[in-house]
Amino acid sequence: MNRIPDSVSAPPTELLRGASLFLDFDGTLVDITATPDAVVVTEQLRRLLVTLQERLGERVAIITGRSASNVEGLFKPVPVLVGGSHGLEIPGDRGDDRIHRPAALDEIIAELREVERTYPGVLVEVKPLGVALHYRQAPDAEQACRTATEQAAARSGLEVQAGKMVFELKPRGADKGAAVRTLMSRPPFAGSRPVFLGDDLTDEPAFAAARELGGAGVLIGDPRPTAAAYRLPTVAAALEWLAEASGAAR
Ligand SMILES: [Mg+2]
Repeated sequence: MNRIPDSVSAPPTELLRGASLFLDFDGTLVDITATPDAVVVTEQLRRLLVTLQERLGERVAIITGRSASNVEGLFKPVPVLVGGSHGLEIPGDRGDDRIHRPAALDEIIAELREVERTYPGVLVEVKPLGVALHYRQAPDAEQACRTATEQAAARSGLEVQAGKMVFELKPRGADKGAAVRTLMSRPPFAGSRPVFLGDDLTDEPAFAAARELGGAGVLIGDPRPTAAAYRLPTVAAALEWLAEASGAAR
């Protein structure tokens, strides 16, 4: 986390040749919206995913903080491999490998609903294995949201994951880096080089994992200290690069 890539370090299109491609969703493939429900997946984005899957021999996965079923639904009818809940939901995991829904979650959700009622604009997003508290529409409530999630974490053993205008509670010991490692140990990904595109702090463990496995991370957004080797400034630039790079992928 010590490099600040400058504006010239756009990734070469050859980066995808023979690679496995891991993509964050919000802020990477779609612009961040006022609420998570407001996001739209365009026909053009569906087609881009299909092209990438074809060119990369199906070595494409979306690794997102959203639930897997949410993102699968947004891309319908195009089938996508989704590691949901920051990679806590990895498809194909045996039942006994799965992380179970935390027992304290219902109580915590009730507490966070209180924060939602107290601060208009704050939004609770219930996930299969955690819960997120968004304050994008109530920036003044940042401290209240931070305090509420930190207190719940201290009591429950869950972990606070800070993101862009959101604090999230999730089970410990799993992040997007672990998701990349898990998928890279399996077909069709095993033996290839991982490339991870993401915009948020939650993507940093995945950038690091991609680098350690011989690949690279691509930060989407403004320069910041990061484990990514490359940077693209916007979602639009990321989509343009993916379209170009898909042509050079085989
Ligand atoms: Mg993101």
